[in-house]
Amino acid sequence: MKFPALKELATTNVIYIEIDSTIREGIELMLSNVHRNVIVKDGEKFRILMIADLVYIKKRNIDQNRSLRSLDLPFITALDKETNILACVEHLKKQIEYICTLNSDGSLHGIVTLTDIISHIDPDTLIENYTLREYLHLGTSIMEAGEEELVLDIFDRFEQSSFDSVVITRRNVPIGILTAKDILKALKSDIDLNIPARELMTSPVRTLYVESTIKEALEFINSNAFKRVIVIDSGGYLSGAITQKELISLTYNRWSQLIKEHFSELQEINRILLIENQQYKTRALTDQLTGLYNRHYFIELFDKRQKDEESRFISDTLLLIDIDNFKQINDNYGHNTGDKVLSAVSKTLINSLRGNDIAGRWGGEEFVVLLLMSEIEEAMEVAQKISRNIAALKVNGNLSVTVSIGINAFHGIQRLEDVISKADEALYEAKRSGRNCIRYAL
Ligand code: GH3
Ligand code: MG
Ligand code: MG
Repeated sequence: MKFPALKELATTNVIYIEIDSTIREGIELMLSNVHRNVIVKDGEKFRILMIADLVYIKKRNIDQNRSLRSLDLPFITALDKETNILACVEHLKKQIEYICTLNSDGSLHGIVTLTDIISHIDPDTLIENYTLREYLHLGTSIMEAGEEELVLDIFDRFEQSSFDSVVITRRNVPIGILTAKDILKALKSDIDLNIPARELMTSPVRTLYVESTIKEALEFINSNAFKRVIVIDSGGYLSGAITQKELISLTYNRWSQLIKEHFSELQEINRILLIENQQYKTRALTDQLTGLYNRHYFIELFDKRQKDEESRFISDTLLLIDIDNFKQINDNYGHNTGDKVLSAVSKTLINSLRGNDIAGRWGGEEFVVLLLMSEIEEAMEVAQKISRNIAALKVNGNLSVTVSIGINAFHGIQRLEDVISKADEALYEAKRSGRNCIRYAL
């Protein structure tokens, strides 16, 4: 999606006047050009004179020979015409509906409405799916007046509200509209304002049904150069009105809400996947019953260790640990108890090791341990500790087991098969020596 620069949206058909000009000159400029507003240049900054100000001036009989400066007109944001519209988002909440665009030398280039900016940020899809019914209660309500109400009274209400148009109704059916433009016309012709609304209103009034989509409403507004759409229900009664600005900003809000929701949904999915991934990984690396690394992963870790520069010069030790007469445990107490013993022995094994030692289940009731950076004396101590701790274990209250351990301290790069096979010889030696003892390979 490419977002345009302000200059692509701005209208350069803009009139301006210096702030030290008189109010009369300002009004005349506005009336002669039939513009809704005039930019008032105040040094480097810009203010704006709008139709609402004309009503204010007329109502208070303000001396039109005074300078525009005396009106304390609001400033409007002025941005370089090359500014990307995304950079304007922070200005969208401002009261004034316009932004001035400037040439590179700071001179006035044009004017752009915030609505235009928002409509270029806004996505199409939403407006095709929502109907006016869903939006109507969200917008500001419409000002409504009976056809007999006096224009002067309506002007009073105008001034006290933020509305700039009023729907004229007959028994709640819209028959006309009085807009800012009509006020402008009335002021221009200087007519008596003590007349009923029906005499000044624009009639008939164009309306849309509540079931129209937002897209249809926006197209309706654009093709007729309206600022708002008057909405009726299926009986033809006034339902409300909604401005182009509201239609677009509500859509934009929904869109950003959707994006936010979508984003947090994605984050949640991502979180779950991460956890699952972690679980799969753990499952693939460890043995389910004992929680120790499985044979496959132990081999991988051993190979990794062999690739360490360190292992060329340092001696590591491999222990092969086998539970004595384990078959009898299964036979005497059942397979479940056998499993409990395996699990308890594994825990004890892990707790007897140093942090960076690697322990795995080599097969059935046989375990393998790689002691990193250890000489035979140190390995002997670890093996004794393992043996002691396992012998002290009590499973199901009174069941205890012993282990036989074969030790192989090796140096430099070795094949695991060879290392294991020598440790196995030592283990066999331990079994032959009556079990519950430790032997090392020479
Ligand atoms: P030794 O002292 O000579 O090692 O005698 P042993 O009985 O421990 O050795 P043997 O190899 O004869 O028997 C090992 C038994 O371990 C046989 C097998 O049923 C049992 N076993 C292997 N894996 C498991 C397991 O996951 N759970 C249980 N409960 N038993 C297992
Ligand atoms: Mg065995
Ligand atoms: Mg055994």
